[in-house]
Amino acid sequence: MTNWNDRISPIVKSVPPSGIRRFFDIASEMEDVISLGVGEPDFVTPWSIRESCVYGLEQGYTSYTANRGLMELREEICFMHKRRFELDYNPKTDVLVTVGVSEALDIAMRTILSPGDEILIPEPCYVSYKACATLAGGIPVPVPAKAENDFRITPADLEPHVSPKTKALLIGYPNNPTGAILSKEDLEAIARFAVKHDLIVISDEIYGDLTYGDTKHVCFAGLPEMKDRTILLNGFSKAYAMTGWRIGYALSNPDIIAAMTKIHQYTMLCAPITAQIAAVEALRHGEKYMRKMVSEYDKRRRLIYDGLQKAGLKCFEPKGAFYIFPDITSTGLSSEEFAEKILMQEHVALVPGNAFGECGEGFVRCSYATSIEQISEALARIEHFVNHL
Ligand code: PLP
Repeated sequence: MTNWNDRISPIVKSVPPSGIRRFFDIASEMEDVISLGVGEPDFVTPWSIRESCVYGLEQGYTSYTANRGLMELREEICFMHKRRFELDYNPKTDVLVTVGVSEALDIAMRTILSPGDEILIPEPCYVSYKACATLAGGIPVPVPAKAENDFRITPADLEPHVSPKTKALLIGYPNNPTGAILSKEDLEAIARFAVKHDLIVISDEIYGDLTYGDTKHVCFAGLPEMKDRTILLNGFSKAYAMTGWRIGYALSNPDIIAAMTKIHQYTMLCAPITAQIAAVEALRHGEKYMRKMVSEYDKRRRLIYDGLQKAGLKCFEPKGAFYIFPDITSTGLSSEEFAEKILMQEHVALVPGNAFGECGEGFVRCSYATSIEQISEALARIEHFVNHL
């Protein structure tokens, strides 16, 4: 009998399944589960954005677009970066509209990594980073960020991991899973490090609009000498509650964008026209809705930050994204044991920190992209769990 498993490429086999999925599968079979597990806004996409898509369909916009995306959308993306970050991108040559940041990450890696090239990836990090690097034929080199430094990566953390094969660095701030951000000074230090080692930097800024208090997002490409060296990735999934639309983009120098476009044109052809029309509306008129959602996340953030500490779990205050990363070492449980037990006993779903890299062990990720009522109930259950171990 044919062993189909033998036919699967060793590179694909070498990539482990996502550590997040397992808990969702168990949780989906249970009743009365409160999920702090998913990294997805609980809001519906604002109506004016949905309406623009409906209107587009009524007008018969159902075709392919240019490979790089609708010119209108590329222009809006460039206007926004000029307005907010003083960055000058050319909509004709410096922008590629992609099928979510997910596609942008995949093709950015495939564009810059040759077989055996290394890419530094600070951990804990979003689960796709290492997998995309491996699937591109590169070698992801995890760099642990220090918990005592609130998981902010520094050149001192990165330096020992540089080798002659290091070609690139991937940063993702505000960070999934920790909620950490990097200050302008932190980012400037990383920029100097990138110049010193002549690295391309992939900067995943999908949570850039989700920052709280007096924290203002600093766009990495806006730092001196970083614009051409950076592949800036962003999208609409999180800030505009548009996860299902599958729309994102990459900004970089014309050579890199042309090379990414080459892969994109053979694999995706273009991002869905419906989502591109909606994204134009999001950038033109969606900011007020986005600000409202951010202010709601902020209330939830403060509630969960206080509540987790009251439950006896140490955590640093997250300043961005919609995640908090409490330290669960005081319970004596591993992060997997904690996630499994709290799901079985209290019906609260969250994600073990080790799903985001080894240095996430001892932590769990809680998403606060859910209602105040759900968070309050989850906090009561977490407190009960911690007090009855
Ligand atoms: N980057 C990070 C850090 C994420 O957390 C996610 C989704 O959770 C993505 C990228 C993928 O986003 P998209 O929906 O745009 O593909």
